Amino acid sequence: MLIKKEQSTIRGYFEDASNLSGGNAECVYIPESGDEAAEIVRECNVGKKLLTVSAGGTGVVGGRIPFGGAVLSTEKLDNIIEINAGEKYAVLQSGVIVDNFLKELARKNLFYPPFPTEKTAFIGGNIATNASGEYSFKFGCTRKYVRRIKLVLPGGEVIDVKRGEVIAKNGMFEIPSTGIKFAIPCYKMPGVVKNSAGYYSQTGMDLIDLFIGSEGTLGIIIEAEVDVIEQLPDVFFCAVFFKDSGDAFRMVRELKAQRDMLEGVLCLEYFDGNSLEYLREFCQRVPVGAGGCILFAAQMNSPDGLDAWDRLLTSYSSMDTWFGDTEKHKEELYSFRHKLPEVVNDIVRKNMYPKVSTDIVVPEDKFYDMNEYYLEKLGKAGVRHVVFGHIGENHLHVNFLLENEEELRKARTVYLGFVRKAVEFGGTVSGEHGIGKIKKQFLEIMYGKSGIEEMARVKRAIDRNCIMGPGNIVTVHS
Ligand SMILES: Cc1cc2nc3c(=O)[nH]c(=O)nc-3n(C[C@H](O)[C@H](O)[C@H](O)COP(=O)(O)OP(=O)(O)OC[C@H]3O[C@@H](n4cnc5c(N)ncnc54)[C@H](O)[C@@H]3O)c2cc1C
Repeated sequence: MLIKKEQSTIRGYFEDASNLSGGNAECVYIPESGDEAAEIVRECNVGKKLLTVSAGGTGVVGGRIPFGGAVLSTEKLDNIIEINAGEKYAVLQSGVIVDNFLKELARKNLFYPPFPTEKTAFIGGNIATNASGEYSFKFGCTRKYVRRIKLVLPGGEVIDVKRGEVIAKNGMFEIPSTGIKFAIPCYKMPGVVKNSAGYYSQTGMDLIDLFIGSEGTLGIIIEAEVDVIEQLPDVFFCAVFFKDSGDAFRMVRELKAQRDMLEGVLCLEYFDGNSLEYLREFCQRVPVGAGGCILFAAQMNSPDGLDAWDRLLTSYSSMDTWFGDTEKHKEELYSFRHKLPEVVNDIVRKNMYPKVSTDIVVPEDKFYDMNEYYLEKLGKAGVRHVVFGHIGENHLHVNFLLENEEELRKARTVYLGFVRKAVEFGGTVSGEHGIGKIKKQFLEIMYGKSGIEEMARVKRAIDRNCIMGPGNIVTVHS
C-alpha cells in the first residue's frame, strides 16, 4: 500500500470536473488489494477519520473532492479479473479504467452496453454515480448491468452483494453477517427513465440497488461483475443541421412516434445554436447560422430501415447532413459529439467559476414545455450558455459559461427555477451525474425535508460513525 502525504503530490485528488475549490485532506491511501482497502477503512472507522473515495476524478458534482480527513484512491485496483465470452459477463476491480475495459472487450468481440461517455472514468466511479453512457437511449444506465459488487462497508466489513440475493422484506433490509438492519427509504422516485438523484428507493428493492449510485457514502466498491454483450454490428452515425431549432425538436418528436425506427437507435443527441458556434471553432464544416443539430447513432437493421430514415430526413429542410458509416467518418462524428463537454469544461476551468450545469430529466409529455421554459428564462437572464445532450431521453444539459460574480448569481437563480419547474413536472434533478456536494439543495426540493431525513437515516444505519463520503448526497454527523 502506498500512502501519499506530501501536499504538492496529492493536490490533484482535490479536483474533479466540477471546479469546486477548497478541497483538502491529510493524506491519500492507495491500496493494492481489497484487503488493504478494508484495513484502511477499519482504521479510519476506529479513529473516526473521514474518508473520501477517489476514482478517475471525472465527476462533475464534487463527489471525490475531500473536505478534511483522508482520501482512498482505487487507482491500483485495476485488474480485469475475468471476461467470460460464453456466459457474457466480466469481473473487474473497481479501479479499472473504462477505456481499458472497452478495448479488452473489443478484442474478444464483446461490448459493455452502458458504454460510458468519459473513457478515463473508472468502472467503480460509474457504478457509484449510476452513470449513463453513449448509448443510454437504447441500453439504459449502468445500474441495469451490475450483477454483483464486492464492497467494503464503512465499518470495514467486506460483503458480496449479488443481484437477487438480498431483497427488502416488509420494508426492511438486513445485511447478512453484519447485524446491520434498517427500514428501506420510502420516498417515491420520479417516473422518468433516468435518475441518479440520491439513494434508490422502491418497494421490495434489491440491496445492490441501494449501493449503486450512492456516491461513496455507503461503502467502497472494490470489485464488480457486470453484463456484457456481443459487439454491435453495422452502426452508422448521422448529424442533421437545422436553421431553426424548432425543426430539430419536431423531427425528434416525429421519430419518437415511429417505434420501428426507434428500435435501432442507440443515441439521439441535440446541440443548440450556441453549442454549434463553439464547435465551429474546432470544426469549420458546421454550417454558419445553424440553430440546432440532431446527432444520432443507429444500427442498419435492413434496407427498408435505411429508406425510412431517408424519408424522415428529407421531409425536413436541413442546412446540411453528415453521414458516417466508415470507421473514419464514424470517428469524426463521434469526436464531434464529444468535443462540446470538453470545451465547456475547459472554459469553466479557465474562467475559474464553479460549473453550473443542469442534469434535469422530465417525462416525455412535459419535455417540450420544459424546453420552452428553458428558452424563456435563458433569454431573460442574458448569461452565456449552451444547451445540449440527450434529447432522446428528455435530458438536456444547460451549461452556463460564467465570467463574473453577477452572472454566477443570475445563473444560480435561473437554475433554481429550472429545478422547481422540473420537480413540478415530475422529473429528476439528476439524470446521470449524481448529487455530490453541489446539488444537495436540489435534492431537497425534489424529495422534501422528509426524503432527506430518510436518506440520513439509511446513511447512519450503515455508516454509524459517518466517516464515508462526507458531504455527498446528505449531510450527517456522528
Ligand atoms: C467530458 C466529460 C463528459 C462526461 N459525460 C458523462 C455522461 O455522458 N454521462 C455520465 O453519466 N457522466 C458523464 N460525465 C461525468 C463522469 O464521467 C461520471 O460521473 C463518472 O461516472 C465518474 O467516474 P470517475 O471514475 O471519474 O469518478 P470520480 O469522479 O473519481 O468519483 C465520482 C463519485 O463516485 C465515488 N466513487 C468512486 N469510486 C468509488 C468506489 N469504488 N466505491 C464507492 N464510491 C466510489 C466518489 O467518491 C465520488 O463521489 C462526464 C465527465 C466529463 C469530464
